[in-house]
Amino acid sequence: DLILFWHRRDLRVSDNTGLAAASAQSQKVVGVFCLDPNILERDDVAPVRVTYMIGCLQALQQRYAELGSQLLILHDNPIQAIPRLATALNAQAVFWNWDVEPYSQERDRAVMEALKEKGIQVLPENWDQILHSPDEIRTGSNQPYTVFTPFWRNWSSKPKAEPVVTLQGVTGLTTAEQEIAQQSGVIPLPTAQDLGFVWDRDLVIAPGEIAAQERLEEFTYKSITEYKEQRNFPAVNGTSQLSAALKFGAIGIRTVWVATIAALENSRSDETDTSIRAWQQELAWREFYQHAMYHFPELATGAYREAFKNFPYENNEELFQAWCEGKTGYPIVDAAMRQMNESGWMHNRCRMIVANFLTKDLLIDPRLGEKYFYQRLIDGDLSANNGGWQWSASSGMDPKPVRIFNPASQAQKFDPEGEYIREWVPELRSVDTEYLLSGNISEQERAALGYPLPVVDHKLQQRQFKAIYAQQKAQ
Ligand code: FAD
Repeated sequence: DLILFWHRRDLRVSDNTGLAAASAQSQKVVGVFCLDPNILERDDVAPVRVTYMIGCLQALQQRYAELGSQLLILHDNPIQAIPRLATALNAQAVFWNWDVEPYSQERDRAVMEALKEKGIQVLPENWDQILHSPDEIRTGSNQPYTVFTPFWRNWSSKPKAEPVVTLQGVTGLTTAEQEIAQQSGVIPLPTAQDLGFVWDRDLVIAPGEIAAQERLEEFTYKSITEYKEQRNFPAVNGTSQLSAALKFGAIGIRTVWVATIAALENSRSDETDTSIRAWQQELAWREFYQHAMYHFPELATGAYREAFKNFPYENNEELFQAWCEGKTGYPIVDAAMRQMNESGWMHNRCRMIVANFLTKDLLIDPRLGEKYFYQRLIDGDLSANNGGWQWSASSGMDPKPVRIFNPASQAQKFDPEGEYIREWVPELRSVDTEYLLSGNISEQERAALGYPLPVVDHKLQQRQFKAIYAQQKAQ
């Protein structure tokens, strides 16, 4: 009997919980992916992300072909398209992995109902993209965590599942069934360009599960041991750049975890241990934000903390444009924004710097920045992006009341040679490092180099932000 496995953000055949469950139940397992217009027609889709996703789908089609089956592609509303295809193919069941996002849950419930009405078995209750489900990690009084440190203590003390068995030789559709599938909406995989998304530069990470596994091996073989030291320097290639693979599930999270355990076993010093644990902690942040989104879906639309619910942001359009284009006159901010605009990825330290700058120096609503990031990032992910923005805007679950970054000190600390700034802001290459970092570049020099004046004065803006915050808190 045929089981359809609906892929969403698990674009791989290895270490895939729901896919393993499907193949345990039947020899005949066929994959399906639905290009969802509800997602693709939104105004926050990044061409680079679609390009990466299509690349992953191409690789996945190849994996299915090697295994003796197919990955079918639909381009329609999944609420109708999935049940239609399952009915036409007389599928016994449709399986998939559960997701934390509000839209996904609503969509999945509707698909589930439609399938059940047609008498098709459904098994969506597999948690695959996280090591622990949102209900597994709770406080002593059975509440979801709203602070990371105790979450981390609990999360890291729990035993973690091993990678699940990888899909092996299965049977796919017969030629006659393939024709039926085509009549039920199955199409050849389009390119990103066919879908209206143009990205003609290299991707920071090659798409597909093999590339993701190679990246993981490369990172856990060496860089992970220096992660704690190197992770904060944007000019250094010190982080894994696995975020897009994790977002789309080109790699299984259990596989990632096991690689960290192997690295710990090979570690010969306390320093290395600490470094590996620091990376494990980042994986926990990812889950913390996913759990938060699951338990508090209202995070997706507004501030968590009271003082920020009606914060009177000024939302000056010109300042926002300058920030988006990397033309604020603050070198580290501009370098970071240009890195994202030009490569589709931004270093974590810089994400914090520019988000802090937008909300606290430019007094612009974090939701505008969050959306702009989503329009540009290869790894754009609702939970992580929202968590990062709320953290930076001080509006979220971070217990520290207000955190203000000084762009110059951030640059001095984390880009001490000015290498990162020079890479992304070429017009400043000739400026002396000291001035490059402090931003003390005269009006004349800026004009000569074609680099803008600072759009605001950090000191003044910081004072203003604090005053508004005090007012909001008192209300
Ligand atoms: P590594 O340092 O190698 O970390 C390993 C993995 O852990 C990452 O791939 C990622 O999956 C996860 N991770 C690391 N840091 C965080 C974090 N702070 N929160 C959640 N997960 C984390 N990450 C996204 O995946 N998508 C986003 O849309 C996103 N938006 C962000 C917006 C802001 C304002 C901030 C401050 C952070 C954001 N992050 C986001 C988190 C983080 O910046 C990226 O995950 C990281 O830079 C990706 O690079 P990496 O894979 O080399 O990370």
